[in-house]
Amino acid sequence: AAKARGTGRLEVFDDEASHRSIDRLDLRSDLSEALDRGQLSVVYQPMVELKSNTIRSFEALARWRHPERGNVPPDEFIPLAEETGAIVPIGAWVLDQACRQLAAWQREFPEARLTMGVNISAVQLERGHGDLLDVIRSAGVNPSDIWLEVTEHMDTAEDISSQVSALREAGVHFALDDFGMSYSSLAYLQRFPVEGLKIDRAFVAAMNEDQNNGRGIVRAIMAVADSLSMKAFAEGIETQAQLDALLDLGCGFGQGYLLSPPLSVERSTDALRAQRDRS
Ligand code: C2E
Ligand code: MG
Ligand code: MG
Ligand code: MG
Repeated sequence: AAKARGTGRLEVFDDEASHRSIDRLDLRSDLSEALDRGQLSVVYQPMVELKSNTIRSFEALARWRHPERGNVPPDEFIPLAEETGAIVPIGAWVLDQACRQLAAWQREFPEARLTMGVNISAVQLERGHGDLLDVIRSAGVNPSDIWLEVTEHMDTAEDISSQVSALREAGVHFALDDFGMSYSSLAYLQRFPVEGLKIDRAFVAAMNEDQNNGRGIVRAIMAVADSLSMKAFAEGIETQAQLDALLDLGCGFGQGYLLSPPLSVERSTDALRAQRDRS
């Protein structure tokens, strides 16, 4: 429309920008009702022990099926939910689902000794924002089988420390997601000690390229993990060459489309059955 008025590029751009913000406004209000309307679900991506190709854990990932737009990716709706505070009930619901699912899988597949990874936002750890430990306990799982994945720059460490220390004391583990992508990854480790590092998939993708120090960076991250007694997990393994390179470096655990995409509960259960039947 702006173009038809002949007013040039600038107005076309403004037009699009305002469309985008109206879009976000709509999404915001839809998101506040998504949970109550049953539009959210959780899928589970296997975390595999690389040398034996065995599922050791799952990562719970939120999905939103919007009635008109179809699937809205979490990279879009999670930041919105963080802005509006909707992440507090949504995150607690995801954690509850994941813990109950873990309890069910542990009953059916005790030999697999499964754990569960759940992404959480810094907002959820702030004082007064819901008791995550309560959610874990009432789902009937051992808190030490739960890994909470954090990415946020938790510079407000004091505000979140009371909930974090209660979780730690109960045995809940923390892992730093997308490790290495921020300028302050190492400084962060000093302020917020964790038991695991998830090597960002950008580094895994660069492993088989000669440029960009691909393999050296992954080796360095593993050395950091090792010297701080943390576990290293590789994210986003998409090719056999990447898997081989990670095995070469002695990386123990990883996930990625090569091993398995995120799966529904039913398909995850099938994968666990197939694994049990193989052994
Ligand atoms: P993340 O925690 O780093 O999760 C990994 C993302 O990479 C997932 O995207 C997963 O589907 C995708 N992925 C897995 N394997 C591969 C691969 O081989 N190649 C590529 N290119 N991608 C792969 P997804 O499910 O779209 O989630 C995106 C992000 O949204 C997550 O990144 C996480 O930061 C956030 N998120 C998802 N669910 C939740 C949630 O319940 N709570 C919070 N706070 N954040 C969530
Ligand atoms: Mg994650
Ligand atoms: Mg990640
Ligand atoms: Mg991510």
